[in-house]
Amino acid sequence: MCDVIWCKKQVSGKPCNTVNYLDPYTFWNWEGKVNCAECKTVYYIHMIQGFNFKGPEERPGEKPDTSPLYADKPLEGYKGYLPGIEGRTRPYQCLPRHIYLGKADMVKFSIRGRPVRGWRPQPPSAGIAGSFPYKWDIQKLSPEVWQEYQEKKKKGEVKDW
Ligand SMILES: [Zn+2]
Repeated sequence: MCDVIWCKKQVSGKPCNTVNYLDPYTFWNWEGKVNCAECKTVYYIHMIQGFNFKGPEERPGEKPDTSPLYADKPLEGYKGYLPGIEGRTRPYQCLPRHIYLGKADMVKFSIRGRPVRGWRPQPPSAGIAGSFPYKWDIQKLSPEVWQEYQEKKKKGEVKDW
C-alpha cells in the first residue's frame, strides 16, 4: 500500500487531478519536497512510518528533492507516467526486462505451426472480444493467416507433436 498526493492544482482553469504515488520504500520515513508528475507543482510532505504526518503543502518556486515513482490520472482513463521520465518521475533501477513490460506478443501460429488467435486486430466478424462463436472459419475470416498457414504446411513447418 502507498500514500498518494492527489494534485488539485488549478492548471489553465482545470484541476490537475493527477495521482502521484508515494511508494512506501522511499517515502516510509521521509521529509522533503516532491513534485507532481503532471503540473510539476512542488509539495512538502513529512511521512512517519508510512503515515502522512504533515502536508502536502505547496511550495511554489522551490525545487523538489525527488519525484514520485509513478503517477496517473484516474479520471482520464488512468493515462499515466511510467518511472524514469525526466522532470516527472524517478527512475527505477529494477525494471523488468523489455519482454515483461506488458506489451503482448502477436502470435499467429502455435509452436507446432497451427494457427491460433493470439493476434490483433481481429476482424470485426470475430464478435465480442474476438470470440468467433462456435467456429473459426479461418479461411473465410482470416484469409491472410490461412494463406500463411498453407505456406507453412508446404514448407513442412506444421507438426502434430
Ligand atoms: Zn499536478
